[in-house]
Amino acid sequence: MNDLASVLVVRKKLVVGNWKMNGSLARNAALLGGLKAAAVGGEVERVVCPPYPYLVQAIESLAGVPIAVGAQNLSAIKEGAHTGEVSASMLTDLGCRWVIVGHSERRNLYGEDDVAVAAKVQAALDAKLMPILCVGETLSQREAGQAESIVHRQLDGVVSVLGAERAGAVVVAYEPVWAIGTGRTASPEQAQAIHASIRAFLASRGVNAAEVRLLYGGSVTAANAASLFAQADIDGALVGGASLQVEGFSEICVAAAAS
Ligand code: PEP
Repeated sequence: MNDLASVLVVRKKLVVGNWKMNGSLARNAALLGGLKAAAVGGEVERVVCPPYPYLVQAIESLAGVPIAVGAQNLSAIKEGAHTGEVSASMLTDLGCRWVIVGHSERRNLYGEDDVAVAAKVQAALDAKLMPILCVGETLSQREAGQAESIVHRQLDGVVSVLGAERAGAVVVAYEPVWAIGTGRTASPEQAQAIHASIRAFLASRGVNAAEVRLLYGGSVTAANAASLFAQADIDGALVGGASLQVEGFSEICVAAAAS
């Protein structure tokens, strides 16, 4: 255990389901119904992030249930002539509390760079939405020995815009691109090494890093969750595919609560 992780700070585990562009009213109703029934007790915070059109369905369905709702993206702009965009204040107006920012699919398929990601994180915080900032290297970057430097660059893009104090309010999700949706998860040791390096980097920039929750994402399943959560600097998970099934997501939450 490294020095920062061993500081006596309790970081409640957080499990976030990223539904991506999946679902329908009928399929969501079944999934939400199952998640509600399974979300009993446990020292874990649960969040689901459906596509925009289904946010209200999820918020209404989960009223009074200990599962919060988040969005998968937001605009950095407050309002105006931006066809197709959704602002942070619209999301809070609906009852969203969280938002995923800088997912690798947004970075790679929709050209979001570090500057755009930082602006979105700032817009989220301004509207009192909790940003989940995704960072992570590609396979070729890892093979070139650049995993840490890429992740540090992505973090730096946000810390330098937000400043250390505000950056401390962000949840960071380390998601190696080569592990997302591939079934090829990082080993607990590989993930822990990057998580420890993220915490050390944030501390070096003056962020209260011991309190920042660091999620791992990339092919997390009920089968591998416990070994990931056993690592000192892994404070939860950002879950894609497995979050579309009641058992998959709920078992990951149980593993988080037990760790
Ligand atoms: C994700 O989309 O953030 C993700 C981690 O997906 P999966 O769990 O399917 O790899």
